[in-house]
Amino acid sequence: MQKVCNIIPFFLSRLSGIAPRREIRNWAYLSIEKIIGLNRSDTILKSNMILSSQIVLKLNDIVNELSNNQPIQYILSEVEFYGIKLKVNKNVLIPRPETEELVDWLLKDDFQSVLDIGTGSGCIAIALALNSNAIINAMDISKHALMVAQKNSINNRVKINFQNQDILKLNKLPKYDIIVSNPPYVLESYKSKISKKILDFEPHNALFVSDNNPLLFYTKIAKLAIKSLNNNGKLYFEINQLFAAEIFDFMHELGFVDIELKKDINGKKRMIRGTKN
Ligand code: GLN
Repeated sequence: MQKVCNIIPFFLSRLSGIAPRREIRNWAYLSIEKIIGLNRSDTILKSNMILSSQIVLKLNDIVNELSNNQPIQYILSEVEFYGIKLKVNKNVLIPRPETEELVDWLLKDDFQSVLDIGTGSGCIAIALALNSNAIINAMDISKHALMVAQKNSINNRVKINFQNQDILKLNKLPKYDIIVSNPPYVLESYKSKISKKILDFEPHNALFVSDNNPLLFYTKIAKLAIKSLNNNGKLYFEINQLFAAEIFDFMHELGFVDIELKKDINGKKRMIRGTKN
């Protein structure tokens, strides 16, 4: 690997078989952008540029980490979410496209104040802060996650009130117009079906819930929300489609009105919202 034009063939040959070629090429472009600062067209224009030995070493390290199934977002410590650059590390879930859909839905609403429960990288809170004039609050049980979220809010120049809290231990919340949460919702029993990429690297406490009580976060948050939301305030959840009907029913029983389920781009029931009368 001596020149820029050797990088993509190098990635493709070293990583062949572990992912589709298109994805491997994409990893190579993301790495080139991060390590050398060349975007896709520069990569072609400067294909004869000589690589320093330091850069070759870095690219080699990236390929080694990719070959161990490490997600590219953790290797490069970076991800784009809703057009926003966010830092990520192993203390936070890599933001998913379905969560962008949740943000998009939420931004159609009118609101002055928001609480994001289980903020992780801060992706929802920061996207809302950048696209509204509301006061944004966010909490997480993990101090390490909050450090990432805080850094992301500073990098994106938004003010968010972060709190280190275990939602399961709270009995009351202040008043808000919107409460939003993407809590853990993957069943423990699904671990065997989940790729090593997720299982070996992403934080399990942000993903998995016990099969015995899979909706514990939803019931707790919905009960707190029906008391603390302002009139006409809304609760938004990202959900596991397996439990869509059950979540709909208990939100209805709690007194939420105008409850709506929404499918994600893959046709899965992935979001729900309800209004407090
Ligand atoms: N959508 C994520 C996944 O399927 C799960 C997110 C969550 O548990 N809140 O990997």
